[in-house]
Amino acid sequence: MIIVLKSKATEADAQEILSVIKDAGLKPLYMPGVERIVLGALGDERILANLPINAYSCVESVKPILTSYKQVSREMQSHDSQVQFGDKMIGGGSFCVIAGPCAIENEEQILASAAIVKRHGGMGLRGGAYKPRSSPYSFQGLEEEGLKLMQQASQEYGIPCVTEIIDASLVDKVGEYIDAFQVGARNMQNFRLLKAVGQTQKPIILKRGMSATIEEVLLAAEYIFNEGNQNIVICERGIRTFENATRNTLDLNAVAYIKMKSHLPVIVDPSHGTGIRELVTPMAKAAVACGADGIIVEVHNNPQVALSDGMQSLDEQDFEKMMKGLMPFIKAAGKVLA
Ligand code: PEP
Ligand code: MN
Repeated sequence: MIIVLKSKATEADAQEILSVIKDAGLKPLYMPGVERIVLGALGDERILANLPINAYSCVESVKPILTSYKQVSREMQSHDSQVQFGDKMIGGGSFCVIAGPCAIENEEQILASAAIVKRHGGMGLRGGAYKPRSSPYSFQGLEEEGLKLMQQASQEYGIPCVTEIIDASLVDKVGEYIDAFQVGARNMQNFRLLKAVGQTQKPIILKRGMSATIEEVLLAAEYIFNEGNQNIVICERGIRTFENATRNTLDLNAVAYIKMKSHLPVIVDPSHGTGIRELVTPMAKAAVACGADGIIVEVHNNPQVALSDGMQSLDEQDFEKMMKGLMPFIKAAGKVLA
C-alpha cells in the first residue's frame, strides 16, 4: 500500500509509521518527495488489510497497490526510471542502440564487431560468453575467455558491454568483466538468479521469457528490485505463438502496456523477435514508434560464418543502413539517440 503523509507531517511521524509497518513483518518503504513524504508497505495482503495506518493523524491517504507487482509499478512511481549504462542513460528522452554478436567467438570477431557498433552510433556492446543453447551439441560460448575478450573490446572502443548470466554462481566472475548483466528469456523465472543479480548494483537487461505473460516479466523485475537493484531494463524479445513463419512473434503490445503500467525502461530485441535479418530494421522502427526506449540487436562482422544466430545478424552495411533509417523515427518520437 502507498501511504501519503500530510504536508505538515514530520520526519519523526514518518519514522513512527515505518516502525509500525516493520513490526507487523512488512517491508517498509520511505519515499520523501518535494512536497510530501510518501511511505509504502509491502507484504502479506492479510496483514496489510489490518494495519491501523488510517488512525494516525499525520496520514492523509492510504491507497492499495492493485497490481501484483508493486515496486516496479507506476502506482508506486509515476515518473519514468532511467538506468545508467556506461556514461549514458537508458530511458528518459533518449533511444539507445545496443548491438553486437550473438556470441563472442574469437578476438578478431568481437573486436571487428565492436568497431562496427561504435562506428555507426551504437551506445553499448552485446555478446554472449555463456550461451544457453537449445541443443547440447551447439556452441556453448567461450565462457571466461569470452568475458576477457568482451572487456578488451569494450575498453578498446570505449563502449559499455552487456553479457548474459546463466547461473547465480557466476555473478561475481561475470561482474568483474562487464558493465551490465542480461538475464535471458530461458532464465526469466530463475528466481535465485534474479535475487543474485538483484544484490548487485549493475544494470540488468531482463528479457521476457518466450512463454511468459507480461505480468510474469514484471514480477521477475520485482524480484530484482526487491533485492535492492533498481537498475532494470525490460526487454521484449518475442514470444512463442502458433505463427512459425518467423522465429518468434514480437509482441509490441507488451512495450506499450509495460510503459503504461511500469516506470522501468523497455527495450526491444528485433533480432530474436523475428529471426530474419530483413525484418530487423522494420521492427526496430516499429519499436521506436510504439514507445520503446531502445533496441538490442545482433550485429556480426561476418554473419555467414557466425557460430550462432547468423540468419538474424546484421553486417556492417545493414547496421549502418538501419541506424540511418532509425533517425527520422527517433526524431518523430521526440527523442535523441543515446
Ligand atoms: C541472446 O540475446 O543471444 C539470447 C539468447 O536471447 P534470448 O534469451 O532472448 O533468447
Ligand atoms: Mn542470439
